[in-house]
Amino acid sequence: MPRPRKSLGQHFLRDLSFVRRIVEAAEIAPGDTVVEIGPGRGALSRRLAEVSPRLVLVELDASLADRLRETFADRPTVTVITADAREFDPDTVAELTGRPYRVVGNLPYYAAAPIVRRFLELPRKPEMLVVMVQREVAQGMAARPGDMGLLSVGVQVYAEPRIVCHVPPGAFAPPPKVHSSVVALKVRPRPAVAVEPLETFFDLVRAGFAAPRKTLSNSLSVGLRVPASTLAPVLESTGIDPRRRPSTLSIPEWEALCVAWRLAGSPGRNAREEPDTAGEPHVVERPAG
Ligand code: SAM
Repeated sequence: MPRPRKSLGQHFLRDLSFVRRIVEAAEIAPGDTVVEIGPGRGALSRRLAEVSPRLVLVELDASLADRLRETFADRPTVTVITADAREFDPDTVAELTGRPYRVVGNLPYYAAAPIVRRFLELPRKPEMLVVMVQREVAQGMAARPGDMGLLSVGVQVYAEPRIVCHVPPGAFAPPPKVHSSVVALKVRPRPAVAVEPLETFFDLVRAGFAAPRKTLSNSLSVGLRVPASTLAPVLESTGIDPRRRPSTLSIPEWEALCVAWRLAGSPGRNAREEPDTAGEPHVVERPAG
């Protein structure tokens, strides 16, 4: 067996009780197609192959993908694709075209947030994602007002998160340095905010978290590069106290703020084109715990 590649986040599940928890959380029904991200040596895939009418395995490591093709050679319902999940397009896979699907995976830590973001922002999203990620990332995804960050808003606009279980390092070989959690993301039929285009909403939220320890008024002023006095009437029209911290706002409050900001002519809108904010993802990785 080749040595695990650290650069690809290869920590293989050896405690199979967590395989059961993950598969149960995915609520796979007859007729469902499942996409597993990062199948590795197949700990989850073997169980998924038993309960899924169609299973698509997406693995970046070509040698692991080849081994999986051998493992599942006698299972015509299993398809192995060698690809980077951050660029995956379900419409390029015959088994997935036009079908609803679910995503399951023990994700590599280095790419967990971009992979989740990829699927949540696809035009044809999965119905559900059940993913193992670093514990702090799972908690960030599921945070409530008071503890919310850009990651929480980015995920919860598209999905309802639920922490399924926490997983200690000893459940993997080799054990990672961090704790992990399984999070289930039930994808909403439509985004939780009605702002069009949604990019404008995320522009404002990103600006609002530019200085997350400051007050909302100061943080927005930093992020939008406009004086706090310019934003005062915008905040006042929403009834949101400008002295609150950005982490305390709910998604409906961010939406109300965005609507008011647009009505005021989107002051500072072009600030996002400056180099230090341009191209930042909606869903960002939190620093390692
Ligand atoms: N599912 C297996 C398990 O639970 O034992 C392996 C999980 S391991 C944490 C992550 C897996 O994702 C590895 O097999 C790794 O090669 C694969 N991987 C890493 N980066 C990837 C990417 N960008 N796209 C798809 N797979 C990736």
